[in-house]
Amino acid sequence: MKHVKTNSKNFIAINSGVVDSHKPRAATTGKVWLVGAGPGDADLLTVKALRAINSADIIFYDQLVSEEICALFPKTTPALYVGKVKNNHSIPQEDLNQLLVNQAQLGLNVCRIKGGDPFVFGRGGEELLELRKAGVDAEVVPGITSASGCSTYADIPLTHRGIAQGCTFVTGHAEKTLDVNWNALAQLNHTLVFYMGLTSASEISEKLLAGGLAADTPVAIIENGCRKNQRDIISDLKNFPDAVLREQVQSPALIIVGDVVNLKSQLQVSAWISEAERLTA
Ligand code: SAH
Repeated sequence: MKHVKTNSKNFIAINSGVVDSHKPRAATTGKVWLVGAGPGDADLLTVKALRAINSADIIFYDQLVSEEICALFPKTTPALYVGKVKNNHSIPQEDLNQLLVNQAQLGLNVCRIKGGDPFVFGRGGEELLELRKAGVDAEVVPGITSASGCSTYADIPLTHRGIAQGCTFVTGHAEKTLDVNWNALAQLNHTLVFYMGLTSASEISEKLLAGGLAADTPVAIIENGCRKNQRDIISDLKNFPDAVLREQVQSPALIIVGDVVNLKSQLQVSAWISEAERLTA
């Protein structure tokens, strides 16, 4: 086995070296672990995720797996980047599915690691379906999804007694148009978390306002959540698209809409007061 550390630029070369889809198949002995890496902080990896990383023969990772987590990959295990390449094209999902199947059929234990949770806007379901269809032994290791990790690190509880009795995760990105029942979302009266919502910020704002959600509904934009450079930007439903532009918010970022966002300042004020009391005691 060739031990290679690669990145987006040499993916194709490495890919063609490791995978040979024309080879006759050996008995299926390998296993694929679809592993959730969480939103960034390596301390948020599960014990099971770390075990999968350490026991893999080969690792495939994408752009949402933080550098801190990539640094934990064993030096002797080939780690291949399968996220977006420079010209912004991802490796087609079908090719990636096939790659995973091939590697397992070659007898390798594969760790396919992705940001957050594989089953939350992570295409983990598609990969698992293909693997199971091909008769490959596959298991999913859940990860902390970014809505949970980022909101916690931003001091925003997603639900809170008396404020929000529920929380809905929504994607802000679609191949063509967003197939979302905006009026229903606007009427839920609970927390909404938008993944991949930066480019559709104006649409999210306009559609929720049109659905009847108040213009001053608090909004938090969390950029690079659970990483050393996390940024929390607080705005409201009417103005947050301007805030996204003004603050030049970069991906990955989450948009949290709802009254729970107000808890952030309350929690921080409480922390300051208790610190002040401790210092003056
Ligand atoms: N499976 C992932 C989500 C993948 S979709 C999960 O469970 O979290 C990619 C989107 O997730 C990004 O566009 C962004 O909206 C969100 N995201 C992922 N990691 C993030 C992070 N560290 N900070 C903020 N948003 C993040």
